[in-house]
Amino acid sequence: MVKVTVIGSSSIDLVVTAERRPDKGETILGESFKTVPGGKGANQAVAAARLGAEVFMVGCVGEDGFGKEILDNFKENGVLTDYVEPVTHSESGTAHITLAEGDNSIIVVKGANNHVTPEFVGKALDVIRTSDIVLIQQEIPEETVEYVSELCHAHHVPLLLNPAPSRPISKDVIAKAAYLTPNELEAAVLFQNKDIHEALAENPNKLFITEGKNGVRYHDGEQEVLVPTYTVEAVDTTGAGDTFNAAFAVALAEGQGLKEAVRFANRAASLSVTKFGAQGGMPTRTEVEGSL
Ligand code: ADP
Repeated sequence: MVKVTVIGSSSIDLVVTAERRPDKGETILGESFKTVPGGKGANQAVAAARLGAEVFMVGCVGEDGFGKEILDNFKENGVLTDYVEPVTHSESGTAHITLAEGDNSIIVVKGANNHVTPEFVGKALDVIRTSDIVLIQQEIPEETVEYVSELCHAHHVPLLLNPAPSRPISKDVIAKAAYLTPNELEAAVLFQNKDIHEALAENPNKLFITEGKNGVRYHDGEQEVLVPTYTVEAVDTTGAGDTFNAAFAVALAEGQGLKEAVRFANRAASLSVTKFGAQGGMPTRTEVEGSL
């Protein structure tokens, strides 16, 4: 069993469906309400655990009912929570989502995810040092991503940086990460004035750009390669990127070749879009292998 450490956010999504959005100062009646676990870090941890890895989550929740829900969800999915800490005087991270008129509007309140600081992550040094791979995203403070990139580099642990949501990243962090997995929009922010094909060629076997239903593009040192994903009937693409990243990390940790690992991750991510919710569609190992 490979050991994967995920350092990142966890939150609860509060999802309201309504016929339309209220105007400023207006109150309207909605149609339904549900709460579902989310946060890029938590999503990736759950996806990796379903694919059979030993997964340690490093993150923070609030000392509130949502914090308990987040922890319970980790436990139900077999994610180890030794390094998930309830933080006093902070609410759990939440995403307030309105689904109306065929589109969503989202307000994210980071809450306890702001407490995933370098000092906090330092407490997990032992588990980070002994991991086969570390997975991190950008819903936690920037200095934490910098700190983790240094830590992983110093201890020769491969770091997969999923640069989502977008923000500029220092050259040093890019250099220290073993793998970078932006989607197309994130890649455009990351390599602002550069042609994307040039960026790929300059980062062979490191930069993997996910292109939704087209698949994944990277440069193998000789040429640019597009690994197509699988054709499915997409129901909800929320969490596709998270499933891709988790599956890619698990496959790499297992020693699969790059192309094989991308193929495995494409399969897992394509299965995830066939069901509702970010975590709802994340496949098990058996489901992925049964359909490769
Ligand atoms: P994000 O969810 O971060 O925006 P993408 O939309 O690029 O990222 O999706 C990530 C991966 O999920 C893709 O590379 C692909 O493997 C898979 N995927 C996403 N959408 C689809 C789809 N409609 N059909 C099949 N696979 C998909």
